[in-house]
Amino acid sequence: MDITLTKDQIHQAAQQAYGYASNVTGGANANYIPYLANIDSGLFGLSVMLPDGTAFNYGDTSYRFGIESVSKVPTAILAMKQSSPEGVLEKIGADATGLPFNSIFAILLENHSPSTPLVNAGAISACSMIEPKGDSDAKWKAITDNITDLCGSAPVLIDELYKSESDTNFNNRAITWLLKNYERVYDDPQMSLDLYTRQCSLGITCEQLAVMAATIAAHGVNPLTRKQVFDKSIAPKITSLIATVGFYQSTGNWLYTSGIPAKSGVGGGVLGVLPGVFGIAAFAPPLDEAGNSVKAQAAVKKFMSLLGLGIMNGDFVTITD
Ligand code: GLN
Repeated sequence: MDITLTKDQIHQAAQQAYGYASNVTGGANANYIPYLANIDSGLFGLSVMLPDGTAFNYGDTSYRFGIESVSKVPTAILAMKQSSPEGVLEKIGADATGLPFNSIFAILLENHSPSTPLVNAGAISACSMIEPKGDSDAKWKAITDNITDLCGSAPVLIDELYKSESDTNFNNRAITWLLKNYERVYDDPQMSLDLYTRQCSLGITCEQLAVMAATIAAHGVNPLTRKQVFDKSIAPKITSLIATVGFYQSTGNWLYTSGIPAKSGVGGGVLGVLPGVFGIAAFAPPLDEAGNSVKAQAAVKKFMSLLGLGIMNGDFVTITD
């Protein structure tokens, strides 16, 4: 079916979804990272960006929060840019784990593979793949430059969050050494873990995440800068990864009920991609038991259902003025 939507319809649906989700309660801030436990749990923002650069923002969309696991998306894109999608498939994998983001068991079950760059193990592996090898500063620059390109503006490291995570990331240290044992860390292990921890501690806004999402939806062209950030062949690959594991063990339920591939972070951020149509981002700190923002999920789901959209619907969607 052909569906034509006006920008005003997008605005109305987003505003309504925001209002609806504002009243959704439940969940709790992540508490295993001390910094996150103390963030104001009443913060809530929703941003939508179209491939032509039109932005719709509601609520706390310029508040800078911890990007956390949403950072796995840009670094997976960078690893694909540098080593090709096939290289990432071979060195990390592209499989859903069906298990929590920090699962050690998943590494053992998947024949000693990190499974996908969108869980902790695969993200640490992806950081180890980033070129130039052996040079932490240059790798960090490549990681942050790539995020800047995707968002059209730079992320800012939250020092307190970085310290908080570095002091408490014992599980991720275990993952790193287990991966090293299975030859799935492709650079210095401590450096790779540190880069992963640091990228999770980057501060980002809902508005910036919506630009990143829209860049993916627009086949690699940043809607604000018009720069081709990555080759268009990478767009379906990253969206496949997001669709299969973006919400960890609840990814199937999410896709089934929302109709949009999305990636979450324990900072409360969610990034959603409807290929060719729009990017969406939402942020609210309280999380469900899988680590996904309760309000952000409610807002994105409501938005999709109000517009009658879904990635599996087979519709051809056009947005007009
Ligand atoms: N930095 C967090 C961790 O490694 C990210 C987890 C997440 O956002 N799901 O545990």
